[in-house]
Amino acid sequence: MSVSMSLVQGGAAGGAPQGASAILAAAAPYYQPPAVPQDVQPDRPIGYGAFGVVWAVTDPRDGRRVALKKLPNVFQSLVSSKRVFRELKMLCFFKHENVLSALDILQPPHLDFFQEIYVITELLQSDLHKIIVSPQHLSADHIKVFLYQILRGLKYLHSARILHRDIKPGNLLVNSNCVLKICDFGLARVEEPDQAKHMTQEVVTQYYRAPEILMGARHYSSAVDVWSVGCIFGELLGRRILFQAQNPVQQLELITELLGTPTMEDMRHACEGARTHMLRRAPKPPSFSVLYTLSSHATHEAVHLLCQMLVFDPDKRISVTDALAHPYLDEGRLRYHSCMCKCCFTTSAGMRQYTADFEPSAGQPFDDLWERKLTSVQQVKEEMHKFIAEQLQTGRVPLCINPQSAAFKSFASSTVAHPSELPALASSMGMTAK
Ligand SMILES: [Zn+2]
Repeated sequence: MSVSMSLVQGGAAGGAPQGASAILAAAAPYYQPPAVPQDVQPDRPIGYGAFGVVWAVTDPRDGRRVALKKLPNVFQSLVSSKRVFRELKMLCFFKHENVLSALDILQPPHLDFFQEIYVITELLQSDLHKIIVSPQHLSADHIKVFLYQILRGLKYLHSARILHRDIKPGNLLVNSNCVLKICDFGLARVEEPDQAKHMTQEVVTQYYRAPEILMGARHYSSAVDVWSVGCIFGELLGRRILFQAQNPVQQLELITELLGTPTMEDMRHACEGARTHMLRRAPKPPSFSVLYTLSSHATHEAVHLLCQMLVFDPDKRISVTDALAHPYLDEGRLRYHSCMCKCCFTTSAGMRQYTADFEPSAGQPFDDLWERKLTSVQQVKEEMHKFIAEQLQTGRVPLCINPQSAAFKSFASSTVAHPSELPALASSMGMTAK
């Protein structure tokens, strides 16, 4: 069932030099890599997103551990190739501490042999799902600083007009210093301003799916991501999935048990059938007081913010910007910018110099007009090939895959990788268990 871990580890532990065992190699023939540390870790699978396998590997240029994502079978259909191209363009567009971006893309072979794409991103050891289900203690400070960073990253995405559409704990990567980055843009797309245009229903893992999507709304907005964040906030507080249903109908049942039966006005985005179904049910009163029982961290302030995220009507749901202005997030913001961010710094005199803009927006919206011009797989392939070549940074040694490496066979054949043992969160920055 699992990718053979012993094979991968055996290859690296067998004493082979790093150059022979590592997946990544320099593509320059006479390149002499700098001396790498003796205790270099073996390449290994760390997980998989909606559309690709991710491995932890070593960059031969600096010995740094990075994540290598393989996007296989890119050119099977026009839809899939355009989706991959969109994700790739987004990864190269993002410049924000709480959003995962591309560090490098491996240069493709000649167009005739161009089948798969390899992207290098920063490596984060864990994700919020693994942390929530672990025995790791989560303090009120942890929850605040995680929620702050989710909203901070999401504000940036929404300001670029990007809807993530699959915000869930597993797509929120976390490193040992509790820095969080939103990842996996396989389902992300640009917001559709035209309300008459239909949008796909196949979005968002069911537990985090907004009621308007569950009720068949043809058009939806960035509010779907806010709903997902509300569900995750509740999950952080209670250490269990807030609305864990077997199917979409039951999902809606659980939501209305908490929020009460929605009014006709609240359901105006829903399709006719879903509205009729809802009205046939016995009316339920709201039961928000249940949220106080999630945990001792569910303070009045926390529940007040949570209730504004978990609003049935997407037009009345709080925006990310307004959520960031809620007093509950003041401590998370202060902690983040005191010792975790890269936008503020401490002077030699020990004074903290804060940035002018704590939650920056994107400088410009993400452009998706190029997508409409692409009408065939071959066209996408040619454009993507050109795009990747353009990303090669001048002065940087290009990387390639080393097919002779011990781990390559396993990597090349892995379609689904399994998370292995991950280190616990470090107790740095004073976020130790109490
Ligand atoms: Zn800062």
